[in-house]
Amino acid sequence: MYEQGVIRPPSEAQSLLIRVTRNCPWNQCIFCPAYKGVKFSRRSVEEVKKDIDNMAKEYESYRGMIKSAFLQDADSLVLKTQDILEIINYTREKFPGLERITTYARATTLKRKTAEELKQLQEAGLTRIHVGMESGSAKVLKMIKKGITPEDIVEGGKKVVEAGMSLSEYIMPGVGGRTMSEENAVETARLLNQIRPDFIRVRTFAMHPMSPMRRLVTDGSFVAMNDAEIVGEIKTLVANLDEMHTYFSCGDFSLNLLMQVDGPLNEKKTYMLSELDKFLTLAPEQQKAYALIRRSSYMNYPIEAVYDEELMKKILPEIEKLEKDDPEGFYKYIEHLKSYQLPQPQTDDWN
Ligand code: SF4
Repeated sequence: MYEQGVIRPPSEAQSLLIRVTRNCPWNQCIFCPAYKGVKFSRRSVEEVKKDIDNMAKEYESYRGMIKSAFLQDADSLVLKTQDILEIINYTREKFPGLERITTYARATTLKRKTAEELKQLQEAGLTRIHVGMESGSAKVLKMIKKGITPEDIVEGGKKVVEAGMSLSEYIMPGVGGRTMSEENAVETARLLNQIRPDFIRVRTFAMHPMSPMRRLVTDGSFVAMNDAEIVGEIKTLVANLDEMHTYFSCGDFSLNLLMQVDGPLNEKKTYMLSELDKFLTLAPEQQKAYALIRRSSYMNYPIEAVYDEELMKKILPEIEKLEKDDPEGFYKYIEHLKSYQLPQPQTDDWN
């Protein structure tokens, strides 16, 4: 028996999941369902070691073939550095084939670690840190109660890069709503150009039906963006990013409409901008048709799918049906489809 947390990055799908803390020590972001309803706690090194022993027994026959491990949950580096080092060393002893150990960390937690501590972690084998920055805009970060500032993001991110670890920054186009869309894109790009992480992973915003963000919609302070508007925001973001070594990724998350916008910025920025433009120059009905095709399945489709007359004969009447009694019916349906892909809060009372 061993514990596992509810989420991990898609890139860690094959990784050993080692739970070193439970849930999220901050847990106040108003868009995030993952740990709502459950309390944060630290696990003792002894407890984690018992889990590692049990995993080693369970995976005995192919223990040496396991190549990567991910330390859960949302902010593992809140543990004392000495404790994390002990856990990493023990994990590597029991799983000698490990080539990569990674974890999530909040920017404020990274900021608190000294350069020496991060270097020690890197030398012990912590190879990558996944950070949810969401936005580079101070106003957006405040609205979503992220509990971090742009300065925290830059300082925390740069410390990881300087320690020689790989850095994945997660960003959320659309989370500022229509009124802050431009600022969200420009400020996010400005920070990322300073940090120069190895990965920028795009997580298109979708609102959970139980999210307290609904109240911002009701009072008019948040205007949700549709797919075409979010593609426009991503275009502004990409246009403002430097042609650096960073891998810009829409391809690992199916809530991103154009998953083909994916690649190193120093090689594929022009291609990515042209794909974004290809969608943005479609007629509004074609954009809706493409969104409906994509949102109805997990498959990626080329934008040219909208030039398939047979397919369009099936899709356009569906859009008409959705808009027959409510001009917003199509967008509401798309939002509903998107919300199915979000993690579920672990409570019925998410406030
Ligand atoms: S987004 Fe991250 S920091 Fe915010 S509540 Fe969710 S897990 Fe915690």
